[in-house]
Amino acid sequence: MTAVAFLGLGAIGRPMAVRLAARFPLTVWNRTGARATELAAETGARAAGTPRAAVQGAPIVVTCLPTSAEVEGLLDGPDGVLAGLEPGALLVDCTSGDPASSRRIAARLEALGFGFIDAPVSGGTNGAEAGTLTVMVGGDSQFFDRAAPVLSAFGSRIVRMGPVGAGHAMKAVNNALLAVNILAVGEGLAALVKAGVPARTALNVLNASSGRSFVSETLVPERVLTGAFPKTFKLSLLQKDAGIAAGLLDETGVAGPVIDLAFQLYGEARATLGDGADYLEAIKVIEGQAGVEIRG
Ligand code: NDP
Repeated sequence: MTAVAFLGLGAIGRPMAVRLAARFPLTVWNRTGARATELAAETGARAAGTPRAAVQGAPIVVTCLPTSAEVEGLLDGPDGVLAGLEPGALLVDCTSGDPASSRRIAARLEALGFGFIDAPVSGGTNGAEAGTLTVMVGGDSQFFDRAAPVLSAFGSRIVRMGPVGAGHAMKAVNNALLAVNILAVGEGLAALVKAGVPARTALNVLNASSGRSFVSETLVPERVLTGAFPKTFKLSLLQKDAGIAAGLLDETGVAGPVIDLAFQLYGEARATLGDGADYLEAIKVIEGQAGVEIRG
């Protein structure tokens, strides 16, 4: 059975690693070591004290960190990933990173005889727990085939999008659309509530009409109307994704005023709410400005 190493036990990485531990001999590493030892105690995985120790003996290494910068930051140094990787190992980056960094990392690894694919995920922490994530892969098909059994521990739809960086490009566009939609749904509902339409009634009609979306059908009913606003995905990370998408549009010569504006508005929301805010709390900023709450 292939040994796997997993680096980055955050909100989404942790449940992904739990599922991997049930299928593969797993070694985990996390910057805050207590999270790794706790997961090891819970699942039987091994906790390593450094990235180097984690990846030793693992033909497949999975990373899930905030951005590509943190992934690059783990590569070097005496305790870094490169110091421990076994010959021919494959690095599978599940971070929602950026295509240019991934191409740079892939080229560096290739020159040293290692493989790289970008493999960001969609489906949220619930999807990670249930093993139903969508995984968007960029990289050679031989690496895709090697990684697929590992990715299937937490993903039910695993799609090769193209060369290295294509997975990150796909993920950034997906999340930019989510970011835009959250703001638009929040603005529309705030106005309807102020106009005297109960939020629940507005959503029921919206969800039977052409303006419906995952945001209106699932996220707003479960997290906004209830006032629950659980912390599952940091607003700062969604802003990062909108920024990566804006960069992609720029790079490809596509004018992107809508996505640019979303990036800017999430930046303002982040400044207002702080780095710990959940992404759906962007709606709280709209509510605050409008002087109304979307509940019911
Ligand atoms: P979190 O902020 O919850 O976790 C971040 C993880 O990265 C933690 O393990 C943290 O360690 C580690 N980390 C942060 N900075 C460094 C660093 N400089 N060096 C080493 N480790 C570091 O993020 P998520 O788990 O939510 O997100 C991870 C990635 O997955 C992001 O790219 C995000 O966009 C993406 N994603 C998230 C989803 C979600 O629903 N949460 C859904 C889909 C994709 P420590 O414990 O020490 O802080």
